[in-house]
Amino acid sequence: MKFAGPVVVVGGGLAGMAAAARLAKAGHSVELVEAADRLGGCWAPYPLDPYQRERFELPPSGALADDAPSILGFPAPFRDLFRKSGRPFDAELQRLGYSLVPASPARHVFPDGATLLLPTDRGEQYAVLRQSYGVGVAERWRSLVDRLDNVWQTVRPLGLEAELRGRSQLDSRVRRTLQPRRSIEQLAREVDHPHLAAIIRSVAYRLGSTPRRTPAWCAVELSVARTFGRWTINGPDVGRSSVLVDALAGRLAQRRVRVRLGARVNGVVVEDGRATGVLVGSERIDAAAVVCTVDPWQLYDALLPPTTARAERRAVHRLHPALAPRVSHRVLPQQCAEVTETVHHRFPGRGAGGPRVEYARPYGAGTLLSSHDYAAATPTASAGAAWDGFASWLRRPPISSEVTGVFVAGPFSRGGSQPSQTVLSGALASYGAHDYLNQALRL
Ligand SMILES: Cc1cc2nc3c(=O)[nH]c(=O)nc-3n(C[C@H](O)[C@H](O)[C@H](O)COP(=O)(O)OP(=O)(O)OC[C@H]3O[C@@H](n4cnc5c(N)ncnc54)[C@H](O)[C@@H]3O)c2cc1C
Repeated sequence: MKFAGPVVVVGGGLAGMAAAARLAKAGHSVELVEAADRLGGCWAPYPLDPYQRERFELPPSGALADDAPSILGFPAPFRDLFRKSGRPFDAELQRLGYSLVPASPARHVFPDGATLLLPTDRGEQYAVLRQSYGVGVAERWRSLVDRLDNVWQTVRPLGLEAELRGRSQLDSRVRRTLQPRRSIEQLAREVDHPHLAAIIRSVAYRLGSTPRRTPAWCAVELSVARTFGRWTINGPDVGRSSVLVDALAGRLAQRRVRVRLGARVNGVVVEDGRATGVLVGSERIDAAAVVCTVDPWQLYDALLPPTTARAERRAVHRLHPALAPRVSHRVLPQQCAEVTETVHHRFPGRGAGGPRVEYARPYGAGTLLSSHDYAAATPTASAGAAWDGFASWLRRPPISSEVTGVFVAGPFSRGGSQPSQTVLSGALASYGAHDYLNQALRL
């Protein structure tokens, strides 16, 4: 077989940048094609309106905002990506004048007026819950999250650390732990406390779905937060998570990834059953392999030839885009002391819906208040795929596509839609493409 051209990565969001950096480090020639005029996708920073900049005397660097949450969980995939593609993560951030530091506990505000500062540490969580609600409730919560620790061990090889390729990996042991028929809504009811039930339901909303449609095992997020903590960016732009995009862009330059901005891919060329290039307008770029990180509806309906990937396309047609929150930013005159997250819950009932999550961070002489409103969430293809019961897991596209030489990664992948999971999907796509090209060389 003749393999011409670089590995082409379509899309320069988190998944695309992660895949490109790893492939370049592994010795491949890599070209990343991005439709927008900047890297970062959903996470790209942008300037707030000039009126706010003048009014609050913001320094030029502090005038950037982004729609990424100011608090990050599970930093290990970012650390692994930076370590395996060059300089370690902390050293890279330090070079840019930043560091990753532990964030304060989330403040939960409930419709009955009560508030709860919930730490991530297991012992501290227990102590706070015992003091707020009594021993029984604290023990129920602790044993629930302990059970979710087992879920975490079970799902790690199912799309996070290795590809989830098909049903055969969901054997009886996996099913016993994940309990496919249970929903987040059932889990919330079982905890039998309105505040803790609201926290459990918020997991589903924050994954872009609803508690009834999201499998109970997705509450594994609560275990991940307890195990790995909560983190934020410290430095000139405190809490601006898109600093990670800056760091990744630097890594791509260092690894000599050729980045084409403002270039929209309008087709993947498939010849003899194998991807051999992409089209940008009428220009063809030869590709030894293609890593696609654009949303799957675009990929299967517009980019891949209609006679290819029939099973994957059928499955994707049964998926719906996740609900992305309405994000708005406001600058307040007084400066806050640190990055905080406040979750305003809504109890179930008429007009109920997802929470409003507010991130506050120091911003020039003031505070930037970024609100993510899940009650006003709308289906957004770039936010991943919404849950629609356990079966919707395997409807998500696999990393290694039916089309030989095409690898698919993004927030819609089987590993999940959180930023760290999106980064891991990029890692799996890079391993897939690397193995594919090595195997082809041996033939
Ligand atoms: C407002 C908002 C808030 C979110 N908040 C959270 C959150 O709190 N937690 C969470 O887990 N997830 C959140 N998400 C989900 C988020 O989408 C993912 O976490 C992740 O950042 C996106 O993954 P990505 O980088 O692969 O995709 P994207 O960021 O969508 O990147 C895809 C890139 O491909 C480019 N592209 C598209 N089509 C083409 C083409 N034809 N040719 C070339 N380039 C193309 C796009 O321009 C884009 O840059 C949020 C999403 C939104 C919209």
